[in-house]
Amino acid sequence: MEDEEGPEYGKPDFVLLDQVTMEEFMKNLRLRFEKDRIYTYIGEVLVSVNPYQELPLYGPEAIARYQGRELYERPPHLYAVANAAYNAMKRRARDTCIVISGESGAGKTEASKHIMQYIAAVTNPSQRAEVERVKDVLLKSTCVLEAFGNARTNRNHNSSRFGKYMDINFDFKGDPVGGHIHSYLLEKLLRGSEDQELQGLHLERNPALYNFTRQGAGLNMGVHNSMDSDEKSHRAVTEAMKVIGFSPEEVDSVHRILAAILHLGNIEFVETEEDGPQKGGIAVAEETLVGHVAELTATPQDLVLRSLLARTVASGGRELIEKGHTVAEASYARDACAKAVYQRLFEWVVDRINGIMEARDRDPRRDGKDTVIGVLDIYGFEVFPVNSFEQFCINYCNEKLQQLFIRLILKQEQEEYEREGITWQSVEYFNNAAIVELVERPHRGILAILDEACSTAGPITDRIFLQTLDTHHRHHPHYSSRQLCPTDKTMEFGRDFRIKHYAGDVTYSVEGFIDKNRDSLFQDFKRLLYNSKDPTLQAMWPDGQQDITEVTKRPLTAGTLFKNSMVALVENLASKEPFYVRCIKPNEDKEAGRLEEGHCRHQVSYLGLLENVRVRRAGFASRQPYPRFLLRYKMTCEYTWPNHLLGSDKAAVSALLEQHGLQGDVAFGHSKLFIRSPRTLVALEQSRARLI
Ligand code: ADP
Ligand code: MG
Repeated sequence: MEDEEGPEYGKPDFVLLDQVTMEEFMKNLRLRFEKDRIYTYIGEVLVSVNPYQELPLYGPEAIARYQGRELYERPPHLYAVANAAYNAMKRRARDTCIVISGESGAGKTEASKHIMQYIAAVTNPSQRAEVERVKDVLLKSTCVLEAFGNARTNRNHNSSRFGKYMDINFDFKGDPVGGHIHSYLLEKLLRGSEDQELQGLHLERNPALYNFTRQGAGLNMGVHNSMDSDEKSHRAVTEAMKVIGFSPEEVDSVHRILAAILHLGNIEFVETEEDGPQKGGIAVAEETLVGHVAELTATPQDLVLRSLLARTVASGGRELIEKGHTVAEASYARDACAKAVYQRLFEWVVDRINGIMEARDRDPRRDGKDTVIGVLDIYGFEVFPVNSFEQFCINYCNEKLQQLFIRLILKQEQEEYEREGITWQSVEYFNNAAIVELVERPHRGILAILDEACSTAGPITDRIFLQTLDTHHRHHPHYSSRQLCPTDKTMEFGRDFRIKHYAGDVTYSVEGFIDKNRDSLFQDFKRLLYNSKDPTLQAMWPDGQQDITEVTKRPLTAGTLFKNSMVALVENLASKEPFYVRCIKPNEDKEAGRLEEGHCRHQVSYLGLLENVRVRRAGFASRQPYPRFLLRYKMTCEYTWPNHLLGSDKAAVSALLEQHGLQGDVAFGHSKLFIRSPRTLVALEQSRARLI
């Protein structure tokens, strides 16, 4: 009944490696991958390698093999992790979360789908309809949100540019009662330069695209290049929205808003002759586009035009004056507006999905709160040849998650030792708090200095921002720049700074940091859209009703908003029992069965996997319930093979270890054996291998 696997499949847990080195780690990873063993544990953490091919690992039969089992009873699998989370929720009424990380294309979204499929399948049949409903909305919403949130990046043409946290709620009986999504959209941060940035939204000023949008297709934020697939993905997304429960009017509004964004993106500005060069009067090159935007957003055309060409400022007291834009200012304002409309639309879609997923038929008498299983699918560590503000934010996010990871893993271990009545000593580990502080510390952290630079009146350049960083952090052990390190030719003077992340060094170019961080959407646009006759659009702009003279407070910057949502996310996760899935992308070409060495080594180190193994081995390398231990090693001892007569499994394990002379290296918990040194495990593995 046991599906054990022989040594030809490598070690099912990296903790069993003879030595924790990159070589050994990669050897085991490759060996398993080549035999289609894409999953391997590090203790309770699951490492997964994207196979880029359909493997017969999923479906009802596989689910049945994992249902109700303990983590180690079966070969490593996502289902085992989902089951462990489900058990924690069900047996101990603990909130749990499954954190899925890895770079884009590593298989995070697929993993979250498999996890939800598992949870839906094992739920109490009488409640299955509810979990199916929630799962359906969650999975369908993934399709919709990805259509919005995905952008082609150079590395992956379908990479999620948003992080997604999904909760399935269970009531006090452990029955599902609804779900919730929280998303972390990096929309404002889509790709580097302006044109690239807009590409993800199909907003490049491209005649072919212009024609395409004129045909009225709105939701073509699809991920493919050809119009055919855009059409298809457009239809699929529309269909998904309807199934989720968006009303036809809402779907229609979404299409019109997207089309408006596309037209807005095509608007160009020219300097007008009459006013002379000094006055710098400007006009719109093609008024029909303004007409389209006005029509699609249900706003007056003259107001659209005015908002594009000028901004209203409160001068002195309460007097309002209109200040004309230069061509550059108008272009900047137009793009800021397009991005903001897009972002509000995305947030609105998420809110609607959450409204729809709100539990139906809640029992009003129920006491206590729901228990949840959360699934976090979030962008992993990113390192490109040139790294900008986007990578800075993403990598900061990963530092936060890593910090939590270490904290929780250690906490979890400690709790288990206590539960099992084992004494233990705390473990030394690399603490990345200094790096997190470098980024987020009030007043002196990089984000605070950036905000300061952004709020400075008058011209401020990225270069000055960099100089300020240098001044503040010249002695910081995790910070350097060319200025501070003149001989290091891998950094460009006046442009780059470098952070020593837990996962390795990353050099960031400060170009564009200030612009990307600033949220300079003019109030005129907000008011314009708040006054739209389209109720869906109007609802997205509640802040547009403010009187202009009231608006003195600076809007929060992109960096600060991102930081706040990271702090909230980490707080949320910290209150839950965590499970981790670490995804690895085997090659850049989406090729089945090929594991590219250098590429994978990178990810193994960025994910901190070796360190994970070390932390795990530093206390007790392994812990196993007694029956489980016997199942694997009983053939190595005459007293236990094929069955023992020793009263308890604990006594049998003790006899086995004594025969091997290994009893000095273990601790006997109430229900589990704790093995301190990996050498003991290796010895056991070797005697087992000699026999099979
Ligand atoms: P991520 O969300 O990490 O960016 P995805 O989950 O979208 O990556 O995976 C990218 C692609 O890789 C998928 O579209 C699918 O083709 C393939 N893939 C990922 N995981 C698996 C898997 N377990 N089995 C088969 N193919 C997979
Ligand atoms: Mg994804």
